[in-house]
Amino acid sequence: MLSEAEYHRPTNVESACQLLDDIPEAIVVAGGQSLGLLTKEGIITPEVLVDIKQIDDLQGIERSDGELLLGATTTHRTIEQSELVAEEVPVLAEAAEHIADVQIRNAGTIGGVAAYADPTAEYPLVLLALGGTVVSETVDGKTEYDVRDDFFEGYYRSSLDPHELVTEVRIPTLDENEGTGYEKMAYRENDRALVNVVSHVRVEDRVCSEANVTVGSVTDRPYLSTDASDELVGSELTDEDLENAAAAAKADVPVDPDPSVSTEYREDLVESLVEGTLQDARERARGG
Ligand SMILES: Cc1cc2nc3c(=O)[nH]c(=O)nc-3n(C[C@H](O)[C@H](O)[C@H](O)COP(=O)(O)OP(=O)(O)OC[C@H]3O[C@@H](n4cnc5c(N)ncnc54)[C@H](O)[C@@H]3O)c2cc1C
Repeated sequence: MLSEAEYHRPTNVESACQLLDDIPEAIVVAGGQSLGLLTKEGIITPEVLVDIKQIDDLQGIERSDGELLLGATTTHRTIEQSELVAEEVPVLAEAAEHIADVQIRNAGTIGGVAAYADPTAEYPLVLLALGGTVVSETVDGKTEYDVRDDFFEGYYRSSLDPHELVTEVRIPTLDENEGTGYEKMAYRENDRALVNVVSHVRVEDRVCSEANVTVGSVTDRPYLSTDASDELVGSELTDEDLENAAAAAKADVPVDPDPSVSTEYREDLVESLVEGTLQDARERARGG
């Protein structure tokens, strides 16, 4: 159990990094939601935990130079209820609202999601669609990872080394001519997704100048469909353009077999959720 491990509660980033450097078996615990589950299921038995919740510098949300800066221990509930997030990156608040139940949202953190690299998670889709950055620190200094630069490497694997502490997640804020859409299909509301999608478009003089369509939960990492983007950029985002992009995403995004649900059904879901998110993104980019 987590409670049986040796516990450290550093109050600053420097001490946390030092502990992670000094003790090779040390594991970071943030909200403890995923770690608690892994421990309960007997998948891991942590011996040494570095609890980062007492570190004030890792909390809070700010806007700076066209980006939203979210401290690693900012919880899903804080994100869901933040006026700044609703104003600047509304799709992040929408995604937060669809994570599990309120108990998990009260404890789970954005840094934990970035580090855990669960392919069904919501935020990685937002990061990939908008071009976010994950910032980490070690005793040797700071690293900034562009999420689009293959940060998510596979099932529960990212570019982070075990001794790296995620300190911040940065997401570009949206201009008036940009819009986003988010949809998630699960067996029950807010369960882990069968398919989840985030789409983003930028419109200039009624023509789409940028488009990013990201699909989650179907393969080992969140997937950015370049074929869908290619269909959209340069188009006027007519209904037919959106249908073509959704069909392109269906053909482009790999859907791994899952014993509990048919591959054809999930491929159809990819197509319909992509089309739905693009309709929302288009309306918002046009000022709707
Ligand atoms: C029942 C259940 C349902 C869920 N459903 C959803 C869902 O529908 N959608 C969704 O997106 N998520 C879902 N989650 C995951 C939830 O969002 C967690 O909050 C998320 O995985 C991160 O957990 P945490 O902050 O509690 O991190 P922890 O559980 O504390 O840590 C998770 C992992 O990340 C590492 N870690 C944490 N923080 C850092 C850091 N700052 N630096 C370096 N490493 C770090 C830990 O060492 C550990 O390996 C669900 C979780 C549960 C338990």
